[in-house]
Amino acid sequence: MATMKAAVFEKPGVIKVKDVPVPEISDDEVLIKVKYTGICGTDWSIYNGWYSADKLPMIPGHEFSGVIAKVGKKAKGLKEGDKVTADINMGCGTCFYCIKGQSLLCDSFTQLGIHTDGTFAEYVKAPWKQVHILPDSLSFEAGAFVEPVSCVIHAAKAMNAALASSVVVIGCGLGVLHARMAVLRACAPVIVVGDNEKRLKIAKDMGADYIIDINKTADPVAEVIKLTGGRGADYAIEAVGKTSTYEQAFAMLRRGGTLSAFGITGEQDTMKIRPFEFVLGEKKITGSCAGVGSDVPDAITLLASGRIKPEPLFSMKIPLEDLEWALHELRKDPNLFKIFVSPEISKREIL
Ligand SMILES: [Zn+2]
Ligand SMILES: [Zn+2]
Repeated sequence: MATMKAAVFEKPGVIKVKDVPVPEISDDEVLIKVKYTGICGTDWSIYNGWYSADKLPMIPGHEFSGVIAKVGKKAKGLKEGDKVTADINMGCGTCFYCIKGQSLLCDSFTQLGIHTDGTFAEYVKAPWKQVHILPDSLSFEAGAFVEPVSCVIHAAKAMNAALASSVVVIGCGLGVLHARMAVLRACAPVIVVGDNEKRLKIAKDMGADYIIDINKTADPVAEVIKLTGGRGADYAIEAVGKTSTYEQAFAMLRRGGTLSAFGITGEQDTMKIRPFEFVLGEKKITGSCAGVGSDVPDAITLLASGRIKPEPLFSMKIPLEDLEWALHELRKDPNLFKIFVSPEISKREIL
């Protein structure tokens, strides 16, 4: 049996890089030789046993690009050598939600690399219908960044900001991309609130009108209200994942404004909202879980056309063996953003 190198998350806190069997594909699947996988906060959660603990041992990794190595008999429009990524969200196709076209809410929701073996390995298998071809103009690194961009696109579609409306983003991780998306939708002003000078600068370079560094601003809510004609923003996006910043985002909205919930809090965390704000204030909240379906080719389009230029967010490439080191390093160094893992390289490369 053919084997491959993979980073196996054995149990919480333990990763072993070892040889495992190359996945066998069915007629409905393709085998992909992995080029790069971006490390995501979800991988840290799986590593610590906070998420998908019942799936261990497993091989995570879900933000990826690669080349098709083998095609299942029923796969259409794909061939060996195609440069690809995949929509990682696999709905069952038959439940109430899947039939409604809301596969992210599927009763048996499954994500490649989160609930099933993923791409911290030399090869991964994926259903052919989930696979998307990447254009030549897109680098493999940017190809591995399609998944996070698709998540931002999904949230942007749900929020559906109107032209010339004001948008505040809290958070300067993927928040930087939310700001870019707001700029692309002709929103103004676009305000980014964050705690990292370097990333706030990237947000500004990507077109944000104002940045608010919370290390230098005592009351970011008051500041946003001041910058939006004393009313508050039309839209607020929470891209941190803390109760306190959710409450702040809600307080930054004008009457009738919409909060986009993007940052993932603890499952049991609760926030305080007065129902009054929904009734007399007509405020709204839109949720968004991941990028799915058309969000994926839409992300490819925006990256390949240069509407989104993600390179300033790329920090480093590392070999598979350094994955555990990198998971810890990402917690320690706030200036690191996207680290790509590659089974094909043997030493670290700063980007
Ligand atoms: Zn991710
Ligand atoms: Zn379903």
